Amino acid sequence: MKNNKKMKDWLNNFNLSHPLVIAGPCSAETESQVMKIAHELNNSDVTIFRAGIWKPRTRPGMFEGVGAIGLKWLQKVKSETNLLTATEVANANHVKLAIDHDVDVLWIGARSTVSPFIIQEIAEALDGTDKIVLVKNPVNPDLSLWLGGVERLYNSNIKNLGLIHRGFSTYEKTKYRNIPEWQIPIEVKNRFPDIPMICDPSHISGRRDLIFDLSQTALDLNFDGLMIESHINPDEAWSDAKQQITPKTLIKIMKDLKVRNELVEEEKYKNELYSLRTQIDIIDHSILDSLGKRMKISEEIGGLKKTKNVAVLQNKRWNEILDKMIDEGNSKGLTREFISRIYKAIHQESIIHQEKIINSK
Ligand code: PEP
Ligand code: MN
Repeated sequence: MKNNKKMKDWLNNFNLSHPLVIAGPCSAETESQVMKIAHELNNSDVTIFRAGIWKPRTRPGMFEGVGAIGLKWLQKVKSETNLLTATEVANANHVKLAIDHDVDVLWIGARSTVSPFIIQEIAEALDGTDKIVLVKNPVNPDLSLWLGGVERLYNSNIKNLGLIHRGFSTYEKTKYRNIPEWQIPIEVKNRFPDIPMICDPSHISGRRDLIFDLSQTALDLNFDGLMIESHINPDEAWSDAKQQITPKTLIKIMKDLKVRNELVEEEKYKNELYSLRTQIDIIDHSILDSLGKRMKISEEIGGLKKTKNVAVLQNKRWNEILDKMIDEGNSKGLTREFISRIYKAIHQESIIHQEKIINSK
């Protein structure tokens, strides 16, 4: 990974020639596991070593972290390597213990950002600190909740702030553990252009084979860094085994990722263009995805109509849809002609799908 991009605020102080990389295991498990991973990541593009000490697990009975003893291992990482350290804090006591043990970066997890009470408690415990504090997005795709978390921390005079995009949960099963919904971090980046935005492809994907592509998309969207889970023996990890990668794989990914250069005017233009095109690609994917889903539902309706022996074309319903969409399109700056043309095409395709069902044996 090579880049001359200028970073903002606290990130500038690292003087990096590439985006910031935070890496390490999902959870600190044993002292030797922590030390082995840290030594393998040392002297690579990784600046900050991450390890969860207190793990917020969705269901009880799973490994919930080693607790405060892990903080001693993180101190050892600092003394034996060039890495800074990071861990998740979820209450005032975690904040106190982490600061007492000289942890450099504290992050607030997705399950904490959802709760204004917890964020407020953490913000007050951190009041005035010069530690770096990173706020993950809440588990649900709620922009205001994320912004609210940032505002609470701002109000507690925390200057060294960063954001982590880790995707959003959905009831529906998708190829991602947490869908990226890129437009949300993009919107947050627009609102707070001076706060670095880091992408966590590990928690977005939930599986290691998607990490490279997600990281590349984040860099194409001008994210400032990556947080990636790495374990010496990923399959045996005590938490999030499927999404962790070995330090070797991580280092290879860092080498293969392309970072767009912002230094030269021409490059800046290309960069902006690339970022906008990536946003268009993401939207195009979701348009096709929605159209595919719409046709599937249409087919189900075809099935129902078949059992009741009802005609495929229901003029009244179709005119209602068209009028509604023209109104809605208008409010988004789309012309009546455009919406009519698109909806006629969608309707046509829908009829073809329904007829296929109705005429099937
Ligand atoms: C983690 O980083 O290990 C973690 C628990 O992440 P999240 O809060 O994004 O689920
Ligand atoms: Mn994890």
